[in-house]
Amino acid sequence: MSQVRHDWTLAEVNALFALPFNDLMFRAQLVHRANFTANEVQVSTLLSIKTGACAEDCKYCPQSGHYNTGLERERLLEVEKVLTQAKAAKDQGASRFCMGAAWSNPKQRDMPYIMEMIQGVKGMGLETCMTLGKLTADQAQELAGAGLDYYNHNLDTSPEFYGEIITTRTYQDRLDTLSHVRDAGMKVCCGGIVGMGESANDRSALLRQIANLPEHPESVPINMLVKVAGTPLENVDDLDGFEFIRTIAVARIMLPKSHVRLSAGRSRMNEQMQALCFMAGANSIFYGDKLLTTENPEANADMQLFAKLGLKPEQRGDVSDEAHEAAMAQAIQDQLEPALFHAAV
Ligand code: SF4
Repeated sequence: MSQVRHDWTLAEVNALFALPFNDLMFRAQLVHRANFTANEVQVSTLLSIKTGACAEDCKYCPQSGHYNTGLERERLLEVEKVLTQAKAAKDQGASRFCMGAAWSNPKQRDMPYIMEMIQGVKGMGLETCMTLGKLTADQAQELAGAGLDYYNHNLDTSPEFYGEIITTRTYQDRLDTLSHVRDAGMKVCCGGIVGMGESANDRSALLRQIANLPEHPESVPINMLVKVAGTPLENVDDLDGFEFIRTIAVARIMLPKSHVRLSAGRSRMNEQMQALCFMAGANSIFYGDKLLTTENPEANADMQLFAKLGLKPEQRGDVSDEAHEAAMAQAIQDQLEPALFHAAV
């Protein structure tokens, strides 16, 4: 049940996908409960620290400079602004603060600011995660030296389908960055995107690649494509929701000790679909993106769903942080008492 394997064959993965839905869900739940506390979901907050004008051509991405999506470009945020957002995230109950920059790779001139951000966010008692594109071995060492806990770098899809989605960076580039991150001692966040027009075999092959890495990533985001007007994938056919839920369940079984994150696309899923994703073994989410409660209906909806499903935010094992737990518990309680909540904001 808890066996961590790195030798999955494609036939084995396809066989998991082909199980009757309830059998697959049952197996995923068994694996989940053998490895995690049931009904706990790790909560992260994501901030874009540099938006748009990316040199890469990822066909799903509104931040690519190759496509005109009307996205407003922003330069690298000032360190102080990042720290203000991190403080707000902590006050709202996030345990990890993820910072993403739309870069092919970080430039050396940006590294001092990046270091300051990491040190400042970490100093608040939050876990830190960054996604900055391709890294050299030296850059990975620098980030680890500054105290970065996690680095996100996705494989996106299967090696076979990859060339249909990105031409400016190779699959091997991604694998190299992942090994630099590991070698530097950081934790790895690595997943992919489904619903990009890939085949069922590609979904199996993506999960196989991730599970057969030398070490399983600690976090595995499974994203449902959000079709953005102006990107080449804006008109791709929708993926059946059950196929997405199956992908989460198979990821849970193959990556028994990893957090599987229900990631992009969640805001377009109804509560019932999200509940099935949690049942399939998803145990991590991004919580809101605008952190002031009055401006944050998405975060409120998340707390309502947590309350309805009896889910609780997961606590960091290495840090005792009662304030964090209290903040999240209060946010959930607020959802149970809407009148009180609205009076308070
Ligand atoms: S590298 Fe990242 S930001 Fe740049 S186009 Fe690809 S997904 Fe978007």
